[in-house]
Amino acid sequence: MLDFLGSLERTHLCGALRAANAGQHVVLMGWVNRRRDHGNLIFLDLRDRSGIAQIVLDKELTPDGHAKGEQVRPEYVVAVVGKVRLRAPEAINPKMETGEIEIEAAELRVLNDTRLAPFSPSEDAIQNEEVRLKYRYVDLRRAEMQRIFRLRHEITLAIRESLSKQGFLEVETPILTKSTPEGARDFLVPSRIHAGEFYALPQSPQIFKQILMISGFDRYFQIARCFRDEDLRADRQLEFTQIDLEMSFPRREHVFAVVEEFMAAAFAAAGVTLPIPFPRMTYDEAMRQFGTDKPDLRLPGLTDVRAAFNDEAIATLQIDPALPVVALRIPNVGELSRKEREENHPLFDQKKGAKFIDDFKRLAKSFPAAAAAVRAMAGAAEGDFVVVVAGDPAHHIKASDTKFSGRLSEREINVYSAAGSFRTELAKKYADRHGAFRITDQAVQDAAQRSSDGMIDGGVAFHPMWIVDFPMFEYDLATAAWVPAHHPFTAPYEADMANLTADPASVRADCYDLAMNGLELGSGSIRIHRKDVQQQIFSSLGISDDEARKRFGFFLDALEYGTPPHGGIALGLDRIVMLLTGAPSLREVIAFPKTAKAIDLMADAPTTVTEEQLKELHIRVALRS
Ligand code: ASP
Repeated sequence: MLDFLGSLERTHLCGALRAANAGQHVVLMGWVNRRRDHGNLIFLDLRDRSGIAQIVLDKELTPDGHAKGEQVRPEYVVAVVGKVRLRAPEAINPKMETGEIEIEAAELRVLNDTRLAPFSPSEDAIQNEEVRLKYRYVDLRRAEMQRIFRLRHEITLAIRESLSKQGFLEVETPILTKSTPEGARDFLVPSRIHAGEFYALPQSPQIFKQILMISGFDRYFQIARCFRDEDLRADRQLEFTQIDLEMSFPRREHVFAVVEEFMAAAFAAAGVTLPIPFPRMTYDEAMRQFGTDKPDLRLPGLTDVRAAFNDEAIATLQIDPALPVVALRIPNVGELSRKEREENHPLFDQKKGAKFIDDFKRLAKSFPAAAAAVRAMAGAAEGDFVVVVAGDPAHHIKASDTKFSGRLSEREINVYSAAGSFRTELAKKYADRHGAFRITDQAVQDAAQRSSDGMIDGGVAFHPMWIVDFPMFEYDLATAAWVPAHHPFTAPYEADMANLTADPASVRADCYDLAMNGLELGSGSIRIHRKDVQQQIFSSLGISDDEARKRFGFFLDALEYGTPPHGGIALGLDRIVMLLTGAPSLREVIAFPKTAKAIDLMADAPTTVTEEQLKELHIRVALRS
């Protein structure tokens, strides 16, 4: 029953047809989105990438086409030869872009039929994500997915154009390479030619982009695939795409200006104005104000409310007086019952040596002045949920629980970060209650209206922020050693170099993160360009000469051949697209993603391989339980 395509050629895209096309003869090709049988008239909604057009199969005009129309089912692939005509006024559909016209078919060819998929692309929301991923080819036909990938394309194009205009050259770097130290596990690829040896997939193009600076490229960028063998989360995949760049002779201001320009272009491609320059904050300040180095500025920050508690209150409430006492405020939550408050308890990270007070009625009974002062200091309006987080004097931190930077103490950081993560968790939880704090296109449109409730200020839904002045090292209590807080090519502040061994805690790194709406969008740094400094950093990190040579010998050699001062950054493209499309997870913005269990359900990977293949690779599999 299938027809041949013959000499037919497509003339138009379905979604492009308008009243101005009336009278034109067209050949359309696509999928049957829906079919309605009205006896002598059969209506097909024909869909292609551009949209949907209505086809009319009139038994009188095309008895053959009408007969075929009786047979076709949703998702059959068809070609329609016909004429565009204006719909009768009462049949105009203002909800369809092509709603003023329809196609009077002269001929219908059925190019292919289809098996019945477990869901239809004409559905808006499909609950079962595993089924969507298994039948990804059907899922990707959905209008929402087509919208996301068109936007992803536009965003990427805008970034490429902006960087190219700013003098950056796109250069590809190897996928089969040597380990790059980004702090994750490597994916290894066994070599057939060199028995027992392995390539690593790049965790980032870091070393290569630095070498390109040594090679005189001056400004490099790449939309680069990176591979990190980590446990997956909503905002993490095994392979992901970075906007990776490096420049010679820069100050960090130059890197910021470059990024701000391409980010503004990327957001403009999605119809969002992103004001530049972006605000900045030091790492310590971000911890104090938000309890995290990737603050979500759509919510009020933490307020220092230590002054609200007198000695008696501190003693009775068993608060550690030496540690921060901060309040967090979630706007518009409304009155919570005791049971509802108790349900929030698991969202608080108990391990951090902090405790919280969320029952202001009880607090007001014993310490009315403190309760009132806290709410006033936090700027709480009626219905705002306020929680106080403070240090727990009874808590002894287990050595293995924590790391700390030098300038804020471990326990201060712990209190701030307990408050910070409670703030984000509560905000996520109460988002559904009020429809705020969710990043969708609608949220962008609604932002201006909501700006007065404190959730989003200034009518802007995207809040970028540069975080600067990170500590160079973190102290790892478990191993009693200073460990790098960043990859080991990150330069310390020249002014802090003298303290490298004497007081590592005080050394600041010349690195920066770009945070937006609670996500880390990227990080970068000014690099070490001198071999002596690089060696000093390796030795202060406890990396021996031998080990450094083995891991990055080629890079250390390259550093000796006239390395210019240089620096750069990498931003997660998938995360940017996720923010701009309002998608709830990275899986929505990657065409063929892995599940949270690291499986490609469509391709069915990973799988075992044949004995032959293993033999060629000189590998014998002996699983350790
Ligand atoms: N290579 C770093 C990363 O992937 C970024 C950079 O320092 O440029 O996070």
